[in-house]
Amino acid sequence: MIHPNKTYRLGDVTVTRIDEMRLNVATPAFLYPGWDPAELDPNLHWLTPRNMDEATGNLIQSVHTWLVRTRHHTILIDTASGNDKERPGNPIFHHLNTPYLQRLAAAGVQPEDVDYVLHTHLHVDHCGWNTRLVDGRWIPTFPNAQHVFARAEEDYYSSPASHNEVNVPSFGVFEDSVAPIVAAGQAERVDNEGGEYLDNFTFRPTKGHSIGHMSIELRSSGQQALFTGDVMHHPLQVVRPDWNSVFCEWQDDARVSRRWVLEQGAERNLLLFTPHFAETSAGYVTRQGDRFAWRYE
Ligand SMILES: [Zn+2]
Repeated sequence: MIHPNKTYRLGDVTVTRIDEMRLNVATPAFLYPGWDPAELDPNLHWLTPRNMDEATGNLIQSVHTWLVRTRHHTILIDTASGNDKERPGNPIFHHLNTPYLQRLAAAGVQPEDVDYVLHTHLHVDHCGWNTRLVDGRWIPTFPNAQHVFARAEEDYYSSPASHNEVNVPSFGVFEDSVAPIVAAGQAERVDNEGGEYLDNFTFRPTKGHSIGHMSIELRSSGQQALFTGDVMHHPLQVVRPDWNSVFCEWQDDARVSRRWVLEQGAERNLLLFTPHFAETSAGYVTRQGDRFAWRYE
């Protein structure tokens, strides 16, 4: 039995999380090289039990996509990790077999219904369901969808220079999950400075976690939200915006982008839809001195 997740409504647009998997494998010290154990006690009241595993002390995270339905279109924000992918250097994503498409169907959406996929970036856990394995070939999962991503992401991840041993998480991802989309004529690039898209969206450049990372703003009937992308991986970074994740590729830019998202969120009261927070994965930030606080919605 698949239970549908909470649906958020902004004007005549709805947003629903489609789950792929829950993770509780990363210790805070692994995910955040800048981790300070002194932060544990003052934050424990909200960390456990739903954002940190009480038994292991590991962080609880989610991998999912966001389904956005507007008056005219069915849209996915990112496509999680995908099934059957070869990720030998990355066991969390290796040979997955999750009922993601069944969960999408439970929300009333078949693959052919998806009109657009808007990508925050092209990492392993954000473009995997772009393709599925059929008769030994990677074919587009969403045959009628236009996949939209920053030009800088394609330029970087299509280059062999980004696929060296040092950068194992990206190994093979472009080839099995993005190149088939490009070959099928289903790729559309946005300029690296971002811009408006369709009636309701604006791509906001938030470089740092990846070279052409975008946060994607949603507006409808005067209400505003932001799909943050991997500017943050866990609400601990709302409390400590200076902490980059171990996966952030451009460290200084990542800090600037994270602070920008948090300031925008607090000043404009944006509903933030995150890709990896647990619980509902959505919420609001408020200012607390030079830090911020997180509240799930
Ligand atoms: Zn991610």
